Amino acid sequence: MNKSDSEHMLGLLDEIGYAQTDNEKNADLMILNTCAIREGAEDKVFSYLGHWNKHKRDGTLIAVGGCVAQDMGEDLLKRCSYVNLVFGTHNLHRLPDLVLQAEKGERIAELFTELPDDLPETPVIRQNDFSAWVSVIYGCDYNCTYCIVPYVRGREKSRTPDVILQEINELANAGYKEVTLLGQNVTAYGHDLDPVRHLGHLIEMIGEQDAIRRIRFLTGHPRDLNPEIIDAVAKVPSACEYFHLPIQAGDDRTLRRMARGYNVDFYRKVASQVRDRIPDAALTSDLIVGFPGETDQEFMNTVNLVEEMCFDAVNTAAYSPRPHTPAANWPDQVPEEVKNERLRFLNTVVSEVSHRRNKRCLDTVCEVLVEGRSQRNPERVSGRTRTNKIVNFVGDDSLIGKLVNVRIEAANPWALRGSLVS
Ligand code: SAH
Ligand code: SF4
Repeated sequence: MNKSDSEHMLGLLDEIGYAQTDNEKNADLMILNTCAIREGAEDKVFSYLGHWNKHKRDGTLIAVGGCVAQDMGEDLLKRCSYVNLVFGTHNLHRLPDLVLQAEKGERIAELFTELPDDLPETPVIRQNDFSAWVSVIYGCDYNCTYCIVPYVRGREKSRTPDVILQEINELANAGYKEVTLLGQNVTAYGHDLDPVRHLGHLIEMIGEQDAIRRIRFLTGHPRDLNPEIIDAVAKVPSACEYFHLPIQAGDDRTLRRMARGYNVDFYRKVASQVRDRIPDAALTSDLIVGFPGETDQEFMNTVNLVEEMCFDAVNTAAYSPRPHTPAANWPDQVPEEVKNERLRFLNTVVSEVSHRRNKRCLDTVCEVLVEGRSQRNPERVSGRTRTNKIVNFVGDDSLIGKLVNVRIEAANPWALRGSLVS
């Protein structure tokens, strides 16, 4: 979501004559687009800002946007005397005006508590010319007891199918092959629209656009993944058979305390609906360890669930207490060293399970959308399968942005390796 917001910031600033530079020493304006999901991300904000302050040219403006800005607002101006502008998550569209004001020497913190009812459509300069992010719903109406997102991103608001389809038509005409529909809770798409819509409708409508070869969506909530959405993914050829469905914990008491609104059995049912309807679908998840009050046994229930569900990949994190969330004030916090120990153990299990899942791809031929040069080996290019697995193979730059077939010859827990099928 932040990457997508940054692309919109570029589009908005283009309107007042700013262009992107790769060299921060040349910058007239530096914008830090921040994340508040965990304390570690927030700490990075201050180390970046300190670094920028030391190395910026005289007269360079520093602006801070995103979730930390939304949370801290004016306090950021107080804490960092060199910051010129703070703007939040609900007033991105105001960026050009705010920068023009800051150019005149004003120090500004402008925050809205909600997005305007009439959702502003903002210009965008994308950083990739074959795969695009498309926000379809903003905000989150859940209140998981660990999560700062509802506080910093506000209530759910869906864009209308009309504006989304118009954006997707433009992407198709510009040669884009892949779109990722974005939302903090994308599976809730459309419940607030009149008439009510759901994500399945949207996938079916986008599926009619032949030029778009891959449709993805992120991030789904297990409670909202209704059979109509699974059905749309099964029916629409361009909808990728990939479901990122965070479960967060594999223990019912922990899930209740997290206020996730489902238990493990419910998740099992949703996962079976996906796998029964789309047997080759990849299922990935997020897990938090060391949530307040988590016992050794409860943690082991989470570990066992990873084995049981055979996730293709899992993002894991140690619980991080966040401001404005109930769990941060609970007395039964788990000590840091226990959280870290659990995280290490869980990661070894996750990597064994992912490795096993990835090995199922050996000797198969996968369609890969080539994204760029491999970071590790300059002779190779790197791309993703429809199931979102990374594939590296020998190839040249002419393949970037193309869909090609690759025979899979090796698998590790995080990626596959293969060779181009001519
Ligand atoms: N809406 C999605 C998740 C969005 S937040 C959902 O409900 O699943 C992305 C991920 O950050 C979450 O899945 C969770 O695993 C992690 N996360 C959120 N708050 C956290 C916290 N306080 N500590 C550790 N991880 C957290
Ligand atoms: Fe956070 Fe997701 Fe829960 Fe919303 S549903 S509060 S974004 S974890």
